[in-house]
Amino acid sequence: MKEEAGAQGITWNLDDLVAPPAETRIDAALAEAERRIDGFAARYRGRVAGLSGREMRDLLLQYEGILEQVGAAESFASLSWSTQSDDPARGALLQKVMERQSRLSQKSVFLDIEWANVPDEPARALFDDPLLSRWRHWLVISRRYKPHLLSEPEEKILSEKSVTGRNAWSRFFDETLAGTLYEWEGGMVPQEVILRQLYLPDRATRRSAAASLTKGLRGLQRATTYVTNTLLADKSSDDRLRRYPGWISARNMDNQVDDATVDALVRAVTSRYDVVARYYRLKKRLLGLPELFDYDRYAPLPVKERRFTWSEARDTVLAAYGRFHPRMAEVASLFFDKRWIDAEVHPGKRGGAFSNPTVPSAHPYILMSFQGATQDVMTLAHELGHGVHQYLARERGVLQQNTPLTMAECASVFGETLVFQDLISREKDPAVVLSMLVREIEGSFATVFRQVAMHRFEDAVHTARRTEGELTAERISTIWLATQRAMFSDSVTLTDDYGIWWSYVPHFIHVPGYVYAYAFGDLLVRALYSRFLSGGSEFPPRYLDMLAAGGSDWPTALLKPLGVDLADPGFWAQGLRLLEGMVAQAEQLAGNTGS
Ligand SMILES: [Zn+2]
Repeated sequence: MKEEAGAQGITWNLDDLVAPPAETRIDAALAEAERRIDGFAARYRGRVAGLSGREMRDLLLQYEGILEQVGAAESFASLSWSTQSDDPARGALLQKVMERQSRLSQKSVFLDIEWANVPDEPARALFDDPLLSRWRHWLVISRRYKPHLLSEPEEKILSEKSVTGRNAWSRFFDETLAGTLYEWEGGMVPQEVILRQLYLPDRATRRSAAASLTKGLRGLQRATTYVTNTLLADKSSDDRLRRYPGWISARNMDNQVDDATVDALVRAVTSRYDVVARYYRLKKRLLGLPELFDYDRYAPLPVKERRFTWSEARDTVLAAYGRFHPRMAEVASLFFDKRWIDAEVHPGKRGGAFSNPTVPSAHPYILMSFQGATQDVMTLAHELGHGVHQYLARERGVLQQNTPLTMAECASVFGETLVFQDLISREKDPAVVLSMLVREIEGSFATVFRQVAMHRFEDAVHTARRTEGELTAERISTIWLATQRAMFSDSVTLTDDYGIWWSYVPHFIHVPGYVYAYAFGDLLVRALYSRFLSGGSEFPPRYLDMLAAGGSDWPTALLKPLGVDLADPGFWAQGLRLLEGMVAQAEQLAGNTGS
């Protein structure tokens, strides 16, 4: 099926970020940024508390300019490395830029600290100054950290040491995983190829792919357990020094949601694990298997799946986006026309997919590995959702272009939903509809239930590391199996081999506490989509306004014009009922009366 991949030669052009010769220009940009930041510090250090609205505006404009300059260099180095992570020169450039960036951010750390320490009354006067309305939300939210900030010299030391501490371990994890090959059909293949096998119809293939992944991960177990323990301990000491009450508190604060909202989400989802078991019992019957094992979770139903060339995938996504609103398709087209996507598959390219917003003066870039499956079309729809969001939000400037994680998966999942509904409505064969529905259910389960089960895992390992000390690989595996088995109940048998599969999940390493944001985003999107269906022509422009607002307001405020109330306890249950409805629909299509 190699000829169907179709994304050969689909590579991005990074010249928009840094024109060649990139390394020379990056060196020059960083040197200039350093001069600018020295001038910035000389002008404002020790004076933030007494600034007028006009002076504060000048400060913010200069600050944004410096962040833009450094951000472009950093984005270039990181993007260039991500397509060829086995090239030592690119790794070295990335490391160099990160080290310089850390040094530069130490020089501006006075701003956060001094701003946080401005007394409430003058600070409020600045929030309300019309000259500063553009930065209002940033000014408000950056003061929330006041109780958790350390002194300036302490912050400087933490920032500098994080380069060779937390960030170094994180990069070591990435490079170790990216550089590992797994046994397959007499040869050795990267992780992406092994994971693909889990979606194939042949059970023996899936079983041996799972065994190969397990074997590979066990071989890395010493390294991954060590990195995991180190980062758990690092997080624990960070939280202690910064006086956060729990391991998730800092993440919730970054996400701009309160602990109670997240708690309600997690409790709502765990209370509906029955929907997961109900679905997998249906799947067991559909596959005609007496028992489902972990390697059967992604088995396709026995129908021929449609495959896509790169240009079919592009046309499909653009058409669905365009039917929602022409502006969506217009922005998404830029990514194809101007080479903002890297989609070809080659050795050394990092796995997964992402859309990197880079800096407002440039534009986002998307990385993925397109292999022609329907799932790849959905990935493209997902990343373009991010891309459109990031592109529209550039107007908000470098300080407010990015949303908190809770909102960050909203546009991506909404984009996927548009494409999915489009594809399924055009499909005539009920067996294919059922198979697509099943894919969608499984995708949504992976986002909602699986991420919440992963969140339960993270909650348990962070707590265990804090109370029990260093954890063995076996202990972590026990926690992993317990939290995952709770979700499946008796519907899927998780083998002991599956115990080590916590060890390749990059989110646990890169952004502790990240994963619940996926569940948040997915359930939110279900609710938004049903409002779109019932809301007529008002919804799409309001939705685009919400995207263009970026991170310039609280999530609750951004969502209000769309009719969403996050404080409503029934809100999450509503999204979960939509998922249950999809399972019921699948049961019906399968000629079942339900269970
Ligand atoms: Zn995403």
